[in-house]
Amino acid sequence: MKIGGIIDISTKDIPHRSSMVIFTVGCNFKCDYCHNKYLLQPDVGRQYEINELINQIKTNELVSGVSITGGEPTLQNDLLELCIEIQKIGKYLSIDTNGSNPDVIKKIAPYINRVALDLKGPLEPKKFEKITGIKVDLAKIKDTIAFINTKKDIDFEIRTTYVERLLTSDDVSEIINFLESVGFKGNFVLQQYQFLEGVGEEFKKIFSKPEHDLLVNLLKPYKDVKLPFKVFLRDEIVGYCNINEI
Ligand code: SF4
Repeated sequence: MKIGGIIDISTKDIPHRSSMVIFTVGCNFKCDYCHNKYLLQPDVGRQYEINELINQIKTNELVSGVSITGGEPTLQNDLLELCIEIQKIGKYLSIDTNGSNPDVIKKIAPYINRVALDLKGPLEPKKFEKITGIKVDLAKIKDTIAFINTKKDIDFEIRTTYVERLLTSDDVSEIINFLESVGFKGNFVLQQYQFLEGVGEEFKKIFSKPEHDLLVNLLKPYKDVKLPFKVFLRDEIVGYCNINEI
């Protein structure tokens, strides 16, 4: 597996759990605001054997979970093998994905505990292309969502990064309405875009950080509203918080 970096202990990647974070190399999307652009270069990182990764996870007794992120982890040929081996050693396993590869998600589903799906925007071709820099087969993203939604034993988070130049309040409504229409049962998280060095200096002036009040106002209409899923805000003020508690 091609890995661009490993964080031994993180408390941010899986809510309420310490985890080891594995960053896979390569992604099929080209989002301008990507925090991990270095992972999009084919020549970064190095190839790891599954045994080497498993030994590293086994000896890390401070974490109860493993988060595989990227890049796009579903592009790795040996992801299934890694998931099977992680399940054997009893760690809670979370996979980050952009949702574009439902076939791989279906194969690894018996071995994973959580999916965090990065939903870039409303499922509208032009909007999606503007955000991701490529034409995306939206039916595949819908398929991933529909499939994971049937899996009661998989914790499911769908999150959208709010970038002011790319999304509007109508887009947030559209996303939430879509999730309601498909009976999504997990947690929906609206997360604050923040500039990190990995985005690249040239984008510093293009994308600004949306303020806390703006994000709260976007989610206010869903406070105390009965939905099949919970709505969370993730930002620098509240951390990770249910909208009903803000
Ligand atoms: S899908 Fe994620 S990893 Fe891929 S380019 Fe977009 S932000 Fe980066």
